[in-house]
Order: sequence, then C-alpha cells, then structure tokens
Amino acid sequence: MSRLNSQAKWIMNNKQDTESLPQLTSTLTESLVSLLQNARSRDILPAKSTLIHAVQSLPAQLPSHGLGLSHTTQHLVQDIAPAVSSSSLSSRYFGFVTGGTTPAARLADYLVTTLDECLAVRIPSDTIATDVENRALAMLAELLKLDNSSWTGFFTPGSSTSNLYGIACGREHVLRARGAPSPSAEGLQTACEAAGVRRVQILCSMGHPSIMKAASLAGLGRGTVKQMGLADRPWHLDVARVQKELESPGFASIVSVSLGEVNTGKFGISAEELRQLRKLCDRHQAWLHIDAAFGIFANVLPGTPEFKYLKDIAKYIHLGDSITGDGHKLLNVPFDCGFFYLRDPSRLKDIFSIPKTNFSEFAIPPVYFSRPVPAPGGPANPTDVGIQNARRFRALPAYASLVAYGQAGYEDMIVRQTRLARGIAAFVLDHPAYELLPHMPGVDDKSPVLETVFILILFRAVDPALNENLLVRINETGKMYAQGVVWEGQKAIRCAVANWAVDVQEDLAIVTEVLRGVTEQWAGRSRL
Ligand SMILES: *Cc1c(COP(=O)(O)O)cnc(C)c1O
Repeated sequence: MSRLNSQAKWIMNNKQDTESLPQLTSTLTESLVSLLQNARSRDILPAKSTLIHAVQSLPAQLPSHGLGLSHTTQHLVQDIAPAVSSSSLSSRYFGFVTGGTTPAARLADYLVTTLDECLAVRIPSDTIATDVENRALAMLAELLKLDNSSWTGFFTPGSSTSNLYGIACGREHVLRARGAPSPSAEGLQTACEAAGVRRVQILCSMGHPSIMKAASLAGLGRGTVKQMGLADRPWHLDVARVQKELESPGFASIVSVSLGEVNTGKFGISAEELRQLRKLCDRHQAWLHIDAAFGIFANVLPGTPEFKYLKDIAKYIHLGDSITGDGHKLLNVPFDCGFFYLRDPSRLKDIFSIPKTNFSEFAIPPVYFSRPVPAPGGPANPTDVGIQNARRFRALPAYASLVAYGQAGYEDMIVRQTRLARGIAAFVLDHPAYELLPHMPGVDDKSPVLETVFILILFRAVDPALNENLLVRINETGKMYAQGVVWEGQKAIRCAVANWAVDVQEDLAIVTEVLRGVTEQWAGRSRL
C-alpha cells in the first residue's frame, strides 16, 4: 500500500470511528452491565488459560495500520477484560486495601472520561468543575467529622502522594518555626544551616512505606525515618521515646502517626497519647502528620458501644497538622483518588507556588490567571496545591457518591465492612488451627481484641507446615483472595475488607467455609 493510501485509510477510519462510536458505546455498555451483574459470582482471579490467551493476544509491536475502532473494542472486551482480576468488583477480594467503586461513583467516572476536562485552574465562569470539587471536599470533611472551617483540603492521586505533601509541609514548618528561610525556596541545606538544625527527621511506628518514599522525595532521606514503636507492639507509637527525640538538640522532627498501621490495621496510638503528642509537638515546634488513609473512616461509624474503641481515637484526628486519607479505599471511588487536609494553608503557598516573576516566562495567556476566585480559605487554583498541573476531574465520582448515599449510606457501608472484618477475626480467634495476630500483650479477653479490629485481619495457621502453604490454599479456592505478608519473621495472611458491596452474612459464610475447608483438607492429607 502506498503512503498516500495508508493516509487516506486513516482519514476514512477517523470519520468511520466517529460514526460508529454510538453503536460501539452500546456494545461496550452491554458488556460492562454483564460484568457488573456477574460481579458476585465472577471468579476473583482470571483462569490461567484466560491469562495466557490474553497475553498471546497482545500485539508484538505497534501496528503499522491500526486495527480500527470496532476490532479494538472487540479485543478489549473479549481478550483483555476477562483477564483482569475482580479486585474492585468482588466483596471478597481482601488483598492490599483496594476498595471498590460504588455505583454512583462508577457512573460519574464514565462521565469524567467522556468530558475529559482538565482541572488545573479555577475559572468559575467557564466551568462548574472546581466548585463541584470544593463541595465534594466540604461534604467529605463533614462525613469525616472535620470542621470544614479550619481545614483546607484537596484531592490527590492517593495516600502516598498525600503523605508526601504532609512530609513536605512538615519540613517547611519545622524549619520556618526555627527562623529559617523557606527550604522550598532556598533549599534544605541553607534552611537547616540558618536554623542550626543538623537533621530534619521523621518519627513513626511502622509507618506505611510511602513515608519512606516521602522522606526520599522531600530531600530528608530515608535514613532520617526513625521507628519509635513500643518493644512489644511495634505498630504503636512510644510517646516517651518520641518525647526524648523531640528534646534532643539539633534535630527538627515530623511525627507521623499511623491510623491504622498497614499490616495489622491497628491504630498506632491511644486517644490520651494523641492529646499528649499534640502538646509535645507544640512545645518542640514539631509537625504532627496523621496517616489515616483508611482509619479516618472510623469517624463515619455510629456512636454505639460496638465501635467506641475506634471512634474514641479517630475523633482526635483533628489534632494533626496534616491528615492523609484515601478515596479509592473506603470512600469506594475509582482509582486514583486520595485526599489531603491541612490546617494552615500558608504552607502550601510556600511549597507549591510559582514565583510571580516566572509567570511571564510561560506561554500561557494571562487571562488564565486573572479570573480565579479563591475558595473560602482555600488556595486559588488546583495547580497551587500539588505536584500535578493537569488533573483529571477525580472529584466528580466522590461528589456523586457522597450525594447519592449521604451520611447514612456511608455509615452503613463502613459498618458492614467492619462487621465482616470482626466476624472473620472472631472465627480465626476461636478456631484451634488458626492464630489471630498481632498478639496483644495485656489483652486476654476476646471482646477487647475484637473491638480493636477495624477492616484488617492478620492471622496464621498454628501448624507451620500448613502456614507455609496457607495463602495458596486459600486463594486457589477462587472464593476469596487474601494477601501474604511476613509478620515477626513468619508468613502470615492479611485480609483487608474494603468493598462497599460487602454482605456480612453471605460473605462471612463463604470466608469461614473456605478457612474451615482448608484446615480440614490439610488434616485429611496428613492422616493419609
Ligand atoms: C494504602 C495506604 C497508603 C498508600 O496509599 P495509596 O493510595 O496506595 O497511595 C498510605 N498509608 C496507609 C496507612 C495506607 O493504608
């Protein structure tokens, strides 16, 4: 085919594509609907043969002429989609903490993709998008019991990014409070020298790995992250040790509290300790960051005795200077969505603002920046509050879900997820072949242990040989999906309940049947 012909073909296809789009959208919608209708019965992981077929279907190189829209859609629906896991669709996918997508959020996300508007600046006379974002953030704050008037919030690509922002704000604060120029403007070394600070360090107890990444990206260095957990409960912050660090001369500290810790799900601090920590941070010009990626949703639980333990801690989240929360986990909106709330927005300006004099160097029409109306108490433009300039309208699914389900809907979702987690924990605790982790020193009564369970369960098989094989045996049933972790040097199973679609009775029956079946099969095998 001549060059001219291939070009002509492309132009023709382009026109055809536009014409066939409505029909193909219907085809795709039908397949999506069937995917959703079968979500509860679909195998959590694709079959090996399906995966092999999908891998073989991938083109070895860029096609010289495109397949065309119709064939490509077919390829996506028939080859690719069946080979993708049900990690978000199944209420019994317990790997990582993935969350699901509520129906309202899903529909809104379709709209986001179709409109594909970019949210970099706020131009309320051109689009409603940034107003929707502000309303979503305000409603979210309300849901999470944060007083909206004292917090500036914004959406991020996820909790890892929110943690980076928390550490960056902390770095700014601890040095500025000691009389240094802004490290964001002048560099960390200059600011440290001016303030007589040898090191800006991060104090945490089994902080999420993203805290390490944040330390690296913020220029502090991973080596400045110090684990301050209690000897017998490493996920729980040892406030006395933290105090010693805060008092040591030459150091400026950011304290990062895990709410909860990512292996065990435990809240890494008590309410009393959190209050004490706030005072210590004030006294020693330290920054208090709370990584509450999923823990912040404990504030959505009702104020009944069943959830008192969790709520009594989570209600003090507002004592932090900065707070990380995840959207694509318990808010159950699509990837990628996290959020970040900050008490003093002036730090954002220090970190993210581009000096005015540089504006002229960008080939952006000045009108872009002349019209923004600042949101009350918030930064003027989305681009002023994060690394991203061009951003997806990720607030819309969150907005839709909050509007569709409200306070009561979310309360119901979080209650069901917590109850399923506790149901699994209670089963593991009672079953002689299993051992619930972590060991809680000083707690030997069953009910206080269960009260500390939010959405994560960690356990292992008592028999080391079964424990070695436990993960494979659980996951090969296809009825639930657990995650393998290493706890105290041994293999362990972690289950994270994070899907809005949880049906406590039905899911608990299936999970306990799987866990019981695995031990019975194992016992049968060893008798042979
Ligand atoms: C999941 C999680 C993170 C990281 O969140 P992403 O959204 O995956 O970036 C950070 N901290 C905690 C406590 C988490 O559970």
